Amino acid sequence: MRFATIMNKHRAAGRGGAGAVMGSKNLKAIAVKGRLSGTTADPRKAAQISRDGGKMAMEGGAAFAKYGSSIALNVFNEANTLPTRNFRAGHFAEIERIDDEALKNGFFVKDRGCFACPLKCGNVHTVKEEPCKLPS
Ligand code: SF4
Repeated sequence: MRFATIMNKHRAAGRGGAGAVMGSKNLKAIAVKGRLSGTTADPRKAAQISRDGGKMAMEGGAAFAKYGSSIALNVFNEANTLPTRNFRAGHFAEIERIDDEALKNGFFVKDRGCFACPLKCGNVHTVKEEPCKLPS
C-alpha cells in the first residue's frame, strides 16, 4: 500500500505522511537509547514554561483530555464528513451509539497518552459484553 504510520506499542503517528517517507527510504524504525538528560541554558525558566504550558493545555483542553479525538465525531457527522461504511457515506444516523459519550459510558477503561503530555488524550476502551452490539 502507499501509506504508512509510525507505530510504537500504544500510539500511532499517522498524520502528515512521515511513515510513508520512512518506508520510501527503507527506514524501518528509529531506536533511541540513553541515560543522559538534555541541558537548557536556564533550567528554572524552562521548568516554569513547561508548567505554564501544561496548565494552559489542561484549561483549554479539558474536554479533549476527557474524550480524546472522539469528541469530534458529532461535529464531523453534522458536517457530513464522518467516514461511514468505508466512506461510502459521511453521515452516520446512529452516531449516539458510538460518539464520545457512548464510548466514555460504555467502553472506557483508562486514559493513555504520549510521554509527559498532561492531556493524555488517548482513551483505552474495551468491549465488556459479547457480542458487541455495534450497528451493522
Ligand atoms: S497524548 Fe498529548 S501529545 Fe499525545 S496526541 Fe494526545 S494531546 Fe497530543
